[in-house]
Amino acid sequence: MMARTVLNHSDISRALTRISHEILESNRGSADLVILGIPTRGTVLARRIAEIIQRIEPDAPVQLAGSLDVTMYRDDLSRTRTRTPSPTDVPVGIDGKTVVLVDDVLFSGRTIRAAFDALNDLGRARAVRLAVLVDRGHRDFPIRADFVGKNLPSATSERINVHLSEIDGAEFVSIEGG
Ligand code: 5GP
Ligand code: MG
Repeated sequence: MMARTVLNHSDISRALTRISHEILESNRGSADLVILGIPTRGTVLARRIAEIIQRIEPDAPVQLAGSLDVTMYRDDLSRTRTRTPSPTDVPVGIDGKTVVLVDDVLFSGRTIRAAFDALNDLGRARAVRLAVLVDRGHRDFPIRADFVGKNLPSATSERINVHLSEIDGAEFVSIEGG
C-alpha cells in the first residue's frame, strides 16, 4: 500500500513549536500547567512540548510533563485486542492545575473520553485542554482539540502513520490505505 507523507521532520517541529506558543498564550504563561501525554507517542510529544515551553519560558517549573495511561478506563476495553497498560507517571498533583492532554492522533475521541475518567481518579484539575499532532476526524464523542498540529480529513479505511525519532528512529507522518 502506498503511503503519502503529510508532515516531514520540519513540519512536525514547527507544529510543536506553534502549539507550545499557543498553550502559553491561552494559559497566559506556564504557571500551573501540567502536560500529560497519552502513551506511547503522546508521551513523547508531551515531553517535547514541555521542553519547548521550558526554552520559551526558562522560569517554567522543570517537571511539567508526564504520562497518563487510559487503558483500563476505555469503554471499548472488552471489544478490542488485549491491551497492556503502560505506566502512568504524573509528576505533580493536578488539583487546581491546567492539564494539557497530548496525543498523536485524534480519531473517535474515545481515548480522550477515557482520559477524563483517568484524570478524575487523580484529582480535580482547574481545566483540561487537548493538544494533538493530527486530527483525522470521525468523532464518536463531542470532543475537539484546542491545539492541532494538522487537520487531516481521512477516510475511515485510511491509517495515519506517526513516526517519532525517539521511538521509530524516523520523523514523519504519512497516510495510507483508503
Ligand atoms: P480515538 O480514541 O480518538 O479513536 O483514537 C485515538 C487514539 O488511537 C490515539 O491514541 C492514537 O494514537 C490512536 N489512533 C487512532 N487512529 C489512528 C491513526 O490513524 N493512526 C495512528 N497512528 N494512531 C491512531
Ligand atoms: Mg496512541
